[in-house]
Amino acid sequence: MKVAFFSSEVYPFAKTGGLADVSGTLPLALAKAGCEVKIFMPLYKNITPEKIYPDFASTSLGKNVEIIFIKNDDYFMRDNLYGTPAGDYPDNLERFSFFCRKSLEVLKKLDFSPDIMHANDWQASLINIYLKIIYKNDKFYKRAKTVLTIHNLAYQGLFEKEKYPITGIDSKYFSSDFLEFFGKINLLKGGIIFSDMVNTVSPTYAKQIQTPDYGCGLDGVLREKREYLCGILNAIDYNVWSPAKDKYIYKTYTSSSLDDKYVNKAKLQKEMGLKVSKKKFLLGMVTRLAEQKGVDILSKAMNSILEKFQVVILGTGDERYHRILKQKAAKHKDSFSLNLKFDEVLAHKIYASSDAFLMPSRFEPCGLSQLISYKYGTVPVVQHTGGLVDTVTDYEEKGGGFVFKEYSSKALAGTIDRAGALYGCSQEWTDLMKKGMRYSFSWTKTAKEYIRMYDKCRSMP
Ligand code: ADP
Repeated sequence: MKVAFFSSEVYPFAKTGGLADVSGTLPLALAKAGCEVKIFMPLYKNITPEKIYPDFASTSLGKNVEIIFIKNDDYFMRDNLYGTPAGDYPDNLERFSFFCRKSLEVLKKLDFSPDIMHANDWQASLINIYLKIIYKNDKFYKRAKTVLTIHNLAYQGLFEKEKYPITGIDSKYFSSDFLEFFGKINLLKGGIIFSDMVNTVSPTYAKQIQTPDYGCGLDGVLREKREYLCGILNAIDYNVWSPAKDKYIYKTYTSSSLDDKYVNKAKLQKEMGLKVSKKKFLLGMVTRLAEQKGVDILSKAMNSILEKFQVVILGTGDERYHRILKQKAAKHKDSFSLNLKFDEVLAHKIYASSDAFLMPSRFEPCGLSQLISYKYGTVPVVQHTGGLVDTVTDYEEKGGGFVFKEYSSKALAGTIDRAGALYGCSQEWTDLMKKGMRYSFSWTKTAKEYIRMYDKCRSMP
């Protein structure tokens, strides 16, 4: 089966969040399971491809996957992928319509006629829309069925209606049955409507997004699609995320050498300017600083948390949250380390060195950090939502983490206290760490579910 996979970020070439992790690993697992896969992404700054052609470039990823970079220096040679902390780039519609149109042309040049076109998020939604409208009678794409994966429904690709001609799509599709959404262009909505199958990245989130509370205005559209909508749980790449062979951490370890995890803890405490102490319960967090991630309830609970425990945060995002967290950091220099940046190496060190990992998310499509944390013997503390429901059960219900069910600073602080109290009971805590380290969320199983979805698409008339 030939699969063309479209994503605006792919690890290790460009990453702002989990979409990149998924896009850098799922295609490899699909190839391992027998698919022929090509990935398409924009050629951003700091990518050095192996082969360069006039309008695209390419590099191999793993043994069997080729990654095609779509070139346009004006659009893609910028410092960031989508915008700056002050806001999105104003020409994102131009940038990503170009990416989609050009990808469809390059597929032809490569004579790669796919069975499945797999678009990810709003940035690639136009692929599936163009295919059903502009390329409807194109023989090259006759076989192609379309899949859209929604990694986060909160990002829909909304643009002013005056920009509609940039899409190149007939104006009759600017209606509420298709791409129009309260007077604006909504690319994700169009993607949902025009794709043969839609999935999101966990079973619970797939159900939640069909309700008004989580549907971000698209719950009705998703309910109409429900026969063709499913949830497939993300996985992680244990070649990248494994304390036994992680090159970025201070000292590698396994579940039989947990003393070495505490060597990591001491080194991180030192590097971050925190008091070096095994006894102090250390909470880590690596995240985009967006509304979704629960920074509001965390910052309200911060004073009480920092009286007893240490916190290290690595994150970047909305200026609003940078400001709030900076104020806290200024007040609690000895117990709170704040790192407002994107830093792959420090992220690995935090996963390895922390005792517990914080995910107080308001909503969470899947979440990868809790899966990574488990592997490093770092116990996740999470809000009961989305993919966190599917992957974290509370310690008191025989699970591997700590869960709170009310989105509030009080519930968060109470749950951190519970975790901190168990940390004091060393044998119970060690058993809990080891339990998480035994869990496996590997791509092999997940890739099989994607292939099942592809097969379902291919059996459609
Ligand atoms: P989301 O996709 O919503 O950002 P996920 O939990 O699915 O959240 O994935 C987040 C990924 O991005 C993880 O691999 C996490 O370690 C990484 N990440 C997030 N922020 C940073 C940062 N500031 N520096 C390094 N890695 C980060």
